[in-house]
Amino acid sequence: MTINDIDSAVVDLVGSGALVGAARQVLAGEALTAAAPSRPAESPVPIDRSPQGRSVTLPSGTARCIDLCGRRGLFVVAAPSARGSIPERLRHAELALRALSAEDVLRPAGIGDGFRVEDIVVLQVAAPRADHDAARAWWRRRLIPEATIDCIASDGDGGVVVCAVFADRGQQPTSQRQAYTRDDVTGRVRVEAFELHVVEHCNLRCAHCCNTSPYLGPKTLSPAAIASTLSTMATAIRADVFKIMGGEPLLHPEITEVLRVVRESGVGDVVRLFTNGLLLHKMDDAFWRALDHLTVSSYDSAPVRPEHLTLIEEKARAFDVVLNVKPVHAFSQVMHNARRHDDIAVQETFERCWLRHRCLVARNGRFHACTRSAYLPDMHDKVHLTDPFDDPVARQREDSVALDDPNLADAIVELLSRTVPLNACRFCLGGDGPRERHTQLSREDVRGGRLRALPVVA
Ligand code: SF4
Ligand code: SF4
Repeated sequence: MTINDIDSAVVDLVGSGALVGAARQVLAGEALTAAAPSRPAESPVPIDRSPQGRSVTLPSGTARCIDLCGRRGLFVVAAPSARGSIPERLRHAELALRALSAEDVLRPAGIGDGFRVEDIVVLQVAAPRADHDAARAWWRRRLIPEATIDCIASDGDGGVVVCAVFADRGQQPTSQRQAYTRDDVTGRVRVEAFELHVVEHCNLRCAHCCNTSPYLGPKTLSPAAIASTLSTMATAIRADVFKIMGGEPLLHPEITEVLRVVRESGVGDVVRLFTNGLLLHKMDDAFWRALDHLTVSSYDSAPVRPEHLTLIEEKARAFDVVLNVKPVHAFSQVMHNARRHDDIAVQETFERCWLRHRCLVARNGRFHACTRSAYLPDMHDKVHLTDPFDDPVARQREDSVALDDPNLADAIVELLSRTVPLNACRFCLGGDGPRERHTQLSREDVRGGRLRALPVVA
């Protein structure tokens, strides 16, 4: 499947001004005048269970599950009632779009996991003609390069209406997903995302933390070490998004300098920091100035305080940071504590796994296709496993590439193009794991190396 297949599948849904007119009718007028959401956590109201797909409506718009090339897709019309400056109206439209595609809104309506802005295929903005350039630039900062952005003139009431078609996670056929190759001119491999875990410790102990952070000791990468790693990576890859992660990256004592080093490296087009948000209110203006994008996961078991969220939103606005605040109620179980021997099941998990395209990471002098691979020996060391590998370090080496490989870019292409599961897949459920209520591990859980089993979310 190519991007064009998806485009043609939605062409009769999107692409003309008539769509927005129809969408306004769907919203039945009152929705257009209701209050816009302050953040994506509204209660959904299921309204349609027709064969065409289930849908939900909020005061700010509607979302419908659609068939997209044989997989679920999402068609969203976001029509918040915000007035004011164009950035203000676009911001409300973005909040509405994120709210209408969030898991906590879609799951109760039977639409399943949420969708991500990174998976938008086509987006259409209805806005006053004079605002089209601003609207296009606004969305271009938020979407992947392949997404189509179309602006049409609105009917003059000054409002902004956004229609978007989301592909299922992992379905988005970006150029590098079709085939990882080296650029003819630069020799670098284009990837969707690349991440560094600039600290590995955290101020939380989330059960099923993807990076095994609760089980690890303190570790901080110095800016000099980061610069050295990234000078190598810059010769081999170019990422759409550079993800600064942890652990909790705000525990890094020189995080602003880290941001500068990452930006200077040129490895990623956009620098995005991921945080649990608990320390954000303490960050100074230099930190905010250094950011492009900020994703805040506000966990049920340790939510960001409302007054801090307000401050975060104000700072993001003041420093033109693309902010995504995600309320997180559940985690997917990724780690599996018993070696999986069913080759067919492991192969299927690997083939469906979207993490191996979005969680590429360098750690301890090696490049990994996913964080499971990066932490395989640590997991063996710290977590109680059934039937562990005898030599997890050797197994990890088979799954990864040394950064001093003289043919690093070619080796990365080979790793990312493989069709055979990683050794790490034996202890991983990829994107297939059950959803579990988000919770914190106890110190005893961590000391005992327990992957605590939790109630599965319906
Ligand atoms: S906030 Fe939770 S999920 Fe994120 S690194 Fe810390 S323990 Fe892991
Ligand atoms: S170990 Fe395998 S299934 Fe798990 S995230 Fe990595 S590639 Fe995906």
